[in-house]
Amino acid sequence: MTSRRLKEFLNNNLEDLKDKGLYNVINPVEGPNGPVIQIEGKQLINLSSNNYLGLATDERLINACNEATEKYGVGAGAVRTINGTLDIHIKLEEKLAEFKHTEAAIAYQSGFNCNMAAISAVMDKHDAILSDELNHASIIDGCRLSKAKIIPFKHSDMEDLRAKAGEAQKSGLYNKIMVITDGVFSMDGDIAKLPEIVEIAEEFDLITYVDDAHGSGVLGNGMGTVKHFGLSEKVDFQIGTLSKAIGAVGGYVAGKKDLIDWLKVRSRPFLFSTAITPGTAAACMKAIEILSTSTELQQQMWENSRYLKQGLKELGFNIGESETPITPCIIGDENQTQIFSERLIEEGVYAKSIVFPTVPRGTGRVRNMPTAAHTKEMLDEALRIYKKVGKEMKLI
Ligand code: PMP
Repeated sequence: MTSRRLKEFLNNNLEDLKDKGLYNVINPVEGPNGPVIQIEGKQLINLSSNNYLGLATDERLINACNEATEKYGVGAGAVRTINGTLDIHIKLEEKLAEFKHTEAAIAYQSGFNCNMAAISAVMDKHDAILSDELNHASIIDGCRLSKAKIIPFKHSDMEDLRAKAGEAQKSGLYNKIMVITDGVFSMDGDIAKLPEIVEIAEEFDLITYVDDAHGSGVLGNGMGTVKHFGLSEKVDFQIGTLSKAIGAVGGYVAGKKDLIDWLKVRSRPFLFSTAITPGTAAACMKAIEILSTSTELQQQMWENSRYLKQGLKELGFNIGESETPITPCIIGDENQTQIFSERLIEEGVYAKSIVFPTVPRGTGRVRNMPTAAHTKEMLDEALRIYKKVGKEMKLI
């Protein structure tokens, strides 16, 4: 390393993170990310992936991916606006629009990218964005990139949103005003109050933007939070990710045709970054086909989720107010949270700790994501280990 200042900066900051228990250790998974994973040669019950429906390892998706790879090769070859738009990308976008009940859709390389792309393509320094204080990091970064005035509102606090929307409108300072929320909040599992948000949006002429990374495939018969509330006609931007319930990777915006047309000419990751692979596009289409024709996997996921939640609650853990499969086990102190997670892993459950800055200080948690692929035996074994470690650490 040539720069002394960089060396000092890294040394000081890395040590500081380690001292505070905020240094995230990465444990590579040696094989598929299914309900049981292998890490350092050890089999662990996996409660940390977003693979809600088990589709990441589903044979039907793997076959679709392989067939498309045989046909098209492994890469799209270019950015979408040069010649990286393959017919399979267009078919995927048509399927996504159909699935979300919108006129059109546009796919990006990731959900994170999608938020960076879509917000900054529409909002600029003459605009304002009302953003729930617990919105995902990619929304925060997308808002920053747009240079619009960011006005955070208290988490799911509709009085606060209404007051801030009113002030923003009255000030006359802004051309456009947008309200942005997660559909399902990723760290707590609560659902956004979309009917009220849409009502406030109508009152103050706000653009509505819902990031449904954790709602798609989970709520509204798989079609997401917006559909769950019957608001498909009233939300301008429906963001989804292809990396969670859909099981692969990528992100998308579903909305009106003119909005999608605009994103195709103005959103920078679409213009300047290579498209998702053809294999990914084919796997995602297969996943949507499965979701559109059967609710079996969702039912299994909900059943597993209720079972795990009930079990953890009965053991005496604080599982917060989640309304979805996301099941936090809130410990509080960061160091204790890390130790708890490490002990769970040693005993055979992979449930990763989540601490500041991903969640506010003092609200460290181990987040559990039951999926359709878990069996009751796996969940029982996980609960047995939770009980053992919880008692040992005097958490319950
Ligand atoms: N939005 C939300 C609400 C998320 O939870 C995530 C995933 N962590 C993303 C966007 C980013 O999605 P992806 O992992 O597909 O980039």
